[in-house]
Amino acid sequence: MFDDLRDLYQEVILDHGKHPRNFRHPPDANREAKGDNPMCGDRLVVYLKVSDQGIVEDAAFLGKGCAISTASASMMTEVIRGRSKEEVMALFRHFHELCTKDEEDRGEPEAIDPDALEKLMVLSGVRQFPVRVKCATLAWHTMAAAVDGDTVVSTE
Ligand code: ZN
Repeated sequence: MFDDLRDLYQEVILDHGKHPRNFRHPPDANREAKGDNPMCGDRLVVYLKVSDQGIVEDAAFLGKGCAISTASASMMTEVIRGRSKEEVMALFRHFHELCTKDEEDRGEPEAIDPDALEKLMVLSGVRQFPVRVKCATLAWHTMAAAVDGDTVVSTE
């Protein structure tokens, strides 16, 4: 990766880490799940409002964690809002591959909005730091549990 691109990514992560978006508990949320990453001490709650048609109408979170976990949760809430559950789960699968696999080992991306993919690329640098992968994916695992109706997630 070019250094200037890496710097840009770092800036975006720091910005989201310091000023997380959708850091709130929506009163009309109808799904929620707790996530816990004991390796790092990241703990968060993801709140979703899922419509009868299966559209994620609102996504938010609260919690305490490192800059990576907070930034990832913040970006996730922005990226998944307004999408169907199926789209959201496809994004999760793709994001997980971004964080854990080199480019040549990734599967063909499913039909995913390129804007969403570009946003998620920002965090793909964590795959060079395996211990950070759990920080980056915690919010997504937790969100997936909320969509499925589970309530507690631990990365252990
Ligand atoms: Zn962490």
